[in-house]
Amino acid sequence: MSDDPCIFCEIVAGRAPAARIYEDDEVLVFLDLYPTARGHTLVIPKVHYENLFEADEDSLMAVTRVARRGAHALRNAIRPDGMTVVQLNGAAAGQTVFHYHVHLIPRHHGDNLKIHGRRTAERSELETQASEIAAAFATTGDA
Ligand code: AMP
Ligand code: ZN
Repeated sequence: MSDDPCIFCEIVAGRAPAARIYEDDEVLVFLDLYPTARGHTLVIPKVHYENLFEADEDSLMAVTRVARRGAHALRNAIRPDGMTVVQLNGAAAGQTVFHYHVHLIPRHHGDNLKIHGRRTAERSELETQASEIAAAFATTGDA
């Protein structure tokens, strides 16, 4: 394992920038910096664990609860035709950031999904999108 600081832990701690959408005691939601679709969102536990196999059940449940709410918020904010929810475990599965995360990817008919984008998004554009989705989050309850 690398000794480099985990970029998602750096985001949780506020030492690295992110277009934040929502957070509670256990979970943080922000936009992917290399989006593969408009509104490509990541849901992570604030506590570091690498993947599903290291996760405790309570933490996984907290992420799943917020991912569900995030999917509803994205649907309200972006009105996609569908939504891909995906989570990769291990380099062999394509995982590139080794801090557990769930991808929420708005989908449109005819798009050609790639889980990883090729270009960095404009930070200002991400901030605008994050505000729109955060507003949808605020009006999308747990139920
Ligand atoms: P995965 O391949 O499932 O590990 O996905 C990691 C995701 O994290 C990719 O979609 C990256 O675009 C995204 N990512 C990497 N660094 C950052 C960052 N600093 N801020 C936001 N998203 C990031
Ligand atoms: Zn981490």
